[in-house]
Amino acid sequence: MKRTLSTALLLALFLSPAYAFQNANVDYDAVYKIKDEGFNNSEVMDIAWNLTDRIGPRLTGSTGLKNAYDWTSSQMKEWGLSNVKVDPWGEFGKGWDVEKSYVAMTKPYYQSMIGIPKAWTPGTNGLIKAEVVYLDIQDESDLSKYAGKLKGKVVMMPTTIEATTTFEADARRFTDEQLEGMKNFNVRSGGGFSAARIAEFRKRANMRRKAYSFFKQEGVALVLNTNRGGGQGTFFTSNGSRNDDSALPEIEMAPEHYNRLVRLAKKGEPVEIEADTRTKFLTSDLKGYNVIAEIPGSDPNLKDEVVMLGAHLDSWFAGTGATDNAAGSAAMMEAIRILKESGVELKRTVRIALWSGEEQGIFGSRNYVDKTFMKNGQPNTAHGKISAYYNMDNGTGAIRGIYLQGNEAAKPLFQEWFKPFHELGAQTITIRNTGGTDHLAFDGKGIPGFQFIQDPIDYGTRTHHTNMDLFERLQEADLKKNAVIIASMVMQTANMDKKMARKPKVFDNLNR
Ligand SMILES: [Zn+2]
Repeated sequence: MKRTLSTALLLALFLSPAYAFQNANVDYDAVYKIKDEGFNNSEVMDIAWNLTDRIGPRLTGSTGLKNAYDWTSSQMKEWGLSNVKVDPWGEFGKGWDVEKSYVAMTKPYYQSMIGIPKAWTPGTNGLIKAEVVYLDIQDESDLSKYAGKLKGKVVMMPTTIEATTTFEADARRFTDEQLEGMKNFNVRSGGGFSAARIAEFRKRANMRRKAYSFFKQEGVALVLNTNRGGGQGTFFTSNGSRNDDSALPEIEMAPEHYNRLVRLAKKGEPVEIEADTRTKFLTSDLKGYNVIAEIPGSDPNLKDEVVMLGAHLDSWFAGTGATDNAAGSAAMMEAIRILKESGVELKRTVRIALWSGEEQGIFGSRNYVDKTFMKNGQPNTAHGKISAYYNMDNGTGAIRGIYLQGNEAAKPLFQEWFKPFHELGAQTITIRNTGGTDHLAFDGKGIPGFQFIQDPIDYGTRTHHTNMDLFERLQEADLKKNAVIIASMVMQTANMDKKMARKPKVFDNLNR
């Protein structure tokens, strides 16, 4: 009787979720080796330099991104990683390169302007010099008053972006209070836009479409525009006209330069613009690719299972995509280099993915998850063999903790695994969701997908999708730390007795 009871007890213990957490214990020997390699022999800044200064902007489908596929895959082969491939994920569509970009004001006086062609727009087809027309259009009916008046003109959309002086620092780190606030957050809500806001977006998009087809009809030579945020030399690029074959030449400008043209035009001063832009559409290969590489697992029983880490390799093109997302790509590449080079045991296979098409709709990772882990909309065998996916795409800032994406069962694991990093400022575990990037592709299909809490630094003010997203904005100490923390999380996940705990339900609607 006694014996039976203890067997039952043992069995109960074995089956209880607590068992899964027993192997949450930190492997301090392995963490030591990871820290030693990552802090003393780091290559993260060299990787980041190659992706930014040397390869340059990496818009999906562009020559720059193709060069990045080549370099990252050959680099990972050189490190001795296995199964390295540039893996097609499906059709993306035409690529686009900028070959020339010049814009200046020539009246009332000469001054060069900060601006670049909008993504996937045609060039001006040589040097143009034309009067600027500021359009006073609130709705569709206002268009008709410009009929017959816009041929060969440069038009300005009726927008200005406030770019007045701010008295706050561009860059910041999370304060203890802010991190504490995240910890205490217990609603899983995904946020999103209100119905009224969505209706407003639609109305504006519709108005825009009508205006542009009117401009085309009227023979407008060039459209000038500006975008949210920015100021003081910084401007943000927008999503472009990838699927619009009737797009006009268009230049996105720094807000102050744009606003000056608007002020002059509104006061009735004659304003003239000179511009010469040349862009090229690439149609020989319409596919999108991800770069994949592995360290095979060492345990005969677990090596069929996989732990993934990744970041998107594609970027916008006004800068060199340093913080979005050479930072994440470099940290992930460095993490897998550390794992390989330090020789720590990895029972499960570790696989890195550098995604593309993230900026246009998280295409690379979504298609990869669909083709690898799903069949006819249902999880396949491989779905049962992936433990977790780790993503980095919140800029250059130091990791301060992790978003659980509502996966409460993973909390005790991360509480333990972050212990060796408390002194580096990383220990916040929040139940919150975070959105907008590639871990959603996994999380949305029931695979534990995580993104780290990172210090914002100047991501929102200076770098995210801007012309100033350049190498200088990378924080070396933060990136080294991030690669070490990620390598350690991946190692711990690869060596657990069980796979990472999963959410009982797919919170798909919250995450898209
Ligand atoms: Zn990004």
